[in-house]
Amino acid sequence: MVNGAIGVFFDWRTGSKAMNIAFLGLGEMGSGMARNLLKNGHMVTVWNRSPRRAEPLHALGARIATNPAGAAKGAEIAITMLADDVAVESVTLGENGLTAGLAKGAAHVSTSTISVGLSERLTAAHAERGQEFVSATVFGRPDQAQAGKLFVAVAGSPDTVERVRPALDAIGQRSFVIGEVPAQANLLKLAGNFLITCVIESLAEAYALTAKGGIDTRKVHELLTETLFAAPVYRTYGELILAGKFSPAGFKMALGQKDNRLVQLAAEKLKVPLPFAAIVRDRFLAALAHGDEELDWSAIAKRAAEDAGLTQI
Ligand code: NAP
Repeated sequence: MVNGAIGVFFDWRTGSKAMNIAFLGLGEMGSGMARNLLKNGHMVTVWNRSPRRAEPLHALGARIATNPAGAAKGAEIAITMLADDVAVESVTLGENGLTAGLAKGAAHVSTSTISVGLSERLTAAHAERGQEFVSATVFGRPDQAQAGKLFVAVAGSPDTVERVRPALDAIGQRSFVIGEVPAQANLLKLAGNFLITCVIESLAEAYALTAKGGIDTRKVHELLTETLFAAPVYRTYGELILAGKFSPAGFKMALGQKDNRLVQLAAEKLKVPLPFAAIVRDRFLAALAHGDEELDWSAIAKRAAEDAGLTQI
């Protein structure tokens, strides 16, 4: 148990250790994740920049903190699920940031999709303060976050990863340990999102082609996703593209564009050409130019239909 922590007890409901957890960032993903920590018997203190988003969790038993340092005080684990590098850096290292409240030996678990560079800086900043840092990036959209069915890619010191496992078990259906260097989980997440954007783009192109050839694209989708492409990513995004259902956004266009930028930064540093990432980058720019910034990132698919002279696939 860390300094000042309330304590660890065995939760008979779930069979796992209940922990004292701070949760920062209650957006589309964070709200569901915090809810599942509570459901699994953990003691949760929440903080969000816009306080109104904390209210539904308070009703479920969470304590509300007025700043990140206050949330982290006494916590064994502080989990962040914030939009981007700017948010994670300021909430962690800024005034009244979580590092100021987190006890020595306690762990920051960063679940946001952030840059490899920031992950490395956070690893060093926490080590200087005698705190632990783990990256636990997540795959899955907000409905999976609500259901506790995310897939987690975690990297950090093996002892700390084991210590935070009860929290990971509450938010995800399975955790994959990627390595001992936290930034490895961030690089993997960026590579995963790069692949998803390539799937969205290639699905849109294939559906535009078959639609223009006069084939019912529902039949195309059915054949593909029930045979060679029977994977959740093809099913989920194929459905969204065919339905043209890009609002409300499960994953906002700006966040998708951020990940495209971050994967290209990481690739440049490692001298790995990613020609497809450049194609997808232009799709994001075109989406913004067409005023699609409030839509789901899968709305980049609209451009393939347009290029083919179609109004819809
Ligand atoms: P979201 O709904 O836009 O929520 C973003 C959260 O970050 C909100 O709590 C927001 O606070 C907070 N925030 C933004 N800027 C901030 C700042 N400067 N200072 C403090 N707080 C700030 O985003 P999301 O969909 O939950 O995604 C969160 C992270 O998960 C992102 O890194 C995203 O790439 C990643 N991710 C998303 C999905 C998905 O399908 N949505 C899946 C996997 C991973 P306010 O409420 O005050 O705005």
